[in-house]
Amino acid sequence: MNRIAESYVKLVLAVGQHDADYVDAYYGPPEWRTEAEARKRPLPEIRAEAATLIADLQAQPPQTTDELLRLRHQYLLRQLQSMVSRIDMLAGKKLTFDEESKALYDAVAPHYDAAHFQGILDQLETAVPGPGPLAQRVETFRQGFVVPRERLDAVFKAAIDECRRRTLQHIELPPGESFVVEYVTNKSWSGYNWYKGGYHSLIQVNTDLPIFIDRAIDLACHEGYPGHHVYNSLLEKHFVRDRGWSEFSVYALFSPQSLIAEGTANFGIEVAFPGEERTAFEREKLYPLAGLDAAKASRYADVQLLLQQLNYAGNEAARRYLNGEISREEAAAWLVRYALMAPERAAQRVRFMDQYRSYVINYNLGQDLVRQYIESRGGTAGQPAKRWEEFKNLISSPRLPSGLK
Ligand SMILES: [Zn+2]
Repeated sequence: MNRIAESYVKLVLAVGQHDADYVDAYYGPPEWRTEAEARKRPLPEIRAEAATLIADLQAQPPQTTDELLRLRHQYLLRQLQSMVSRIDMLAGKKLTFDEESKALYDAVAPHYDAAHFQGILDQLETAVPGPGPLAQRVETFRQGFVVPRERLDAVFKAAIDECRRRTLQHIELPPGESFVVEYVTNKSWSGYNWYKGGYHSLIQVNTDLPIFIDRAIDLACHEGYPGHHVYNSLLEKHFVRDRGWSEFSVYALFSPQSLIAEGTANFGIEVAFPGEERTAFEREKLYPLAGLDAAKASRYADVQLLLQQLNYAGNEAARRYLNGEISREEAAAWLVRYALMAPERAAQRVRFMDQYRSYVINYNLGQDLVRQYIESRGGTAGQPAKRWEEFKNLISSPRLPSGLK
C-alpha cells in the first residue's frame, strides 16, 4: 500500500494544478510538488492512473485482522474514487447535489422541507419577541453581542488557551505544536485552518462581518483545539512520522476526509465544553474581555441553541441553488428566511456555495454523524472521559464517513 499511497499523493498534487482549492495541505517531499507544477499532467492522464490504482487496491483486499490496516485500504480506495469524481466534475460532468456529496464526501444529507424549519422559527418568535420581522429582531438582538474589533484578539487568545488546556487533559499533543492567528478580509469563509506540517497551523479569521461572542469558542475549538489543528497534528504524528504512511501528508479538500475533519472539529466544541460549561466560561471570562454584559450570556446561549437547529436550512438552500432550482438571490433569501442570517452573511454564504458547493454538508451532517458514532460507543454527554477517548480514537484513524454508521 505504500507504493499506492505515494502515487495517490502525487495524483492529488497533480489535480491541484487544475483546481486551486483541491490541495488543502501538503507537507511531504517538496520536490513532489515541484514536479507536479512542472509536469502539469492533463486531467485524463491523472484519471487513468487513479483508475489503475483503484483496480490495484480492489484486486488486493487486505489479508489481515488489523483494523487500522483495513481502514487504510478502504480510505485509499475511497479517496481515489472521490478524486475520479472531482476530475469528472472539473471536466464538465454535472451531478445533482446529493450525487455530488455522495461521490466526493461519502455521505448524503437528509432533506428537510420549509415546515421543519418553521417549527423552529415559531420557537424563536417566542424567544425573541417584539414588532417587525423575526429575522430583523434576531439580528438586532445579536448586535448586542458583537466583539469590538480591538478586543477580538484578546478574546480569541483566552478562548484558545482554555480549549488547549481542556484538550491537553485528554489528548497528548506532539511536542512543539503551535499555530498563529491572522485576521484577514474578503473571503467566502469565516475561519480557516491552513495546516503547514511540523505540527504547525496558520489560522485565519475573516473580519468582513461582525464577529459575535459565541464565535470565540467555536473558532478556538473548530480550527484549533481539539479541531483541525489537533486532527492534522495527530495524523502527521501517528501516520506520516510513526508509520511512514505518506497519504496523510496531503489533504485533498474535496474528499471524504473533509467530512471527518469538519464533523470532528464541530463536535469537538461539545466534547471540550460539555453541558453548561461553555456558557459558564463565556460568562466568566470572555464577556468581560469583550466588554459585553455577562448577565445576558444565558439568554444569548438559549437563542443560539435554537438558531443552530436552523443550520440544515443552509444545506437546503445549497441543494436547490446548485441543482439549478433557485437563483443566487433566492438562495440568499432562503438563508435569511429559514436560517435567519443577516443579508450580508447570507450573501457571503452563497459565495461559499459557489466556491465549495456540496462541501456545506460536512459541517452539520459531519457533526451529527460523528456525534452518533461516538455516542453509540458509549461516549455520551454523561460520560465525558469516554467521550474524549472515543473522540481521540476517531481523529487518529483513517475512518470514512460511511464507516461512522
Ligand atoms: Zn473547518
